[in-house]
Amino acid sequence: EFALLLPRIDSVEDAAATAQQVLDILQESFALADVEINVNASIGIAVHPLHGENANKLIQRADVAMYVAKESHSGFEVYSTDRDGYSPARLALASELRQAIENEDLLVHYQPKVDIKTRRVVGVEALVRWIHPEHGFMPPDEFIPLAEHTGLIQPLTKLVLRSALRQCREWQKEGLDLDVAVNLSVRSLLDLQLPESVSALLREFSVEPTRLVLEITESSIMADPIRAADVVDRLSGLGIGLAIDDFGTGYSSLSYLKRLPVSEIKIDKSFVMSMTSQDNDAVIVRSTVDLGRNLGLRVVAEGVETIEMFNELESLGCDIAQGYLLSRPLPAAELTAWAKDWRSAEEGALVASLAS
Ligand code: C2E
Ligand code: CA
Ligand code: CA
Repeated sequence: EFALLLPRIDSVEDAAATAQQVLDILQESFALADVEINVNASIGIAVHPLHGENANKLIQRADVAMYVAKESHSGFEVYSTDRDGYSPARLALASELRQAIENEDLLVHYQPKVDIKTRRVVGVEALVRWIHPEHGFMPPDEFIPLAEHTGLIQPLTKLVLRSALRQCREWQKEGLDLDVAVNLSVRSLLDLQLPESVSALLREFSVEPTRLVLEITESSIMADPIRAADVVDRLSGLGIGLAIDDFGTGYSSLSYLKRLPVSEIKIDKSFVMSMTSQDNDAVIVRSTVDLGRNLGLRVVAEGVETIEMFNELESLGCDIAQGYLLSRPLPAAELTAWAKDWRSAEEGALVASLAS
């Protein structure tokens, strides 16, 4: 990361024009030895005094804007309070979220993943839930970005990991062999301490590393591919499985993905949900299944809502299904009951009965 100080510029427009010039210059490839190297950059802009009175504030806000630019792949972004976790209303919510994490008021629900061929429940995905005392149910899509921007994502991820691993251990004691998947967001993936803390948690709960899958998205990898690859390599070295979540929605290059030690790809639910109605989405699902097979990766379809989708995925040779057809995400105790019922039912009978 580099900081550019532009002392003679005092308007947002001029700063933006300079950022664009820098991006244009970086556009051209560099020759390093005999290799052509292409460099991408994401630039965050904060202007004095509009966005801050002192250097600390300006750098912090330029950093917030830089992460917005990285996530949206827009090249550069000017700091804006809407997209910042630091505006007063967001700050209040962030402090409530911090409380909720400290008091362990966040819940973790689990959604089953079923092997399409054998119809067995093979694992679950852990999904965090926050019931806010005034606003009620808060969708994770809203408070995860807030946690990302306010330094709360580390304790949040840790809380979810702890719950999931403790639960995994409980299930094992009850004879339910379930893998658990936990979502990682950008900052967790770029946290160089993460492999060490995951490894400590696995020891604490005596869970085999192969039972744990971490789900990462293409865009979070591409936010900083070199650093992400370092973290991912170390996680995989521990024996932990890695899944590419929301596959098909990102910008990553296939050649880059192929080099990552990934064990699973999850086809984004937007494609799965319309595969039975839209031809081009069916094509995307089909090609992803083929791609996974050719690269030796497990392919999971998420957002499986109907028996038609399940059957079509089966005929395409997709490995695993996850979605409302099988079950919504459930509190741990309900998932245990669900999994026991599922196991005692005739193979496939449940899928058929769910459809009616
Ligand atoms: P995701 O990882 O793609 O999770 C799948 C989302 O799809 C979940 O939404 C799940 O409830 C929903 N879903 C599952 N089956 C179906 C279906 O058949 N139809 C439809 N329409 N939706 C289905 P949820 O729980 O609201 O989570 C949203 C996102 O929030 C997740 O997307 C994930 O990116 C993030 N998230 C959730 N929990 C965590 C967490 O503990 N840590 C982090 N970093 N992110 C999390
Ligand atoms: Ca996920
Ligand atoms: Ca997903």
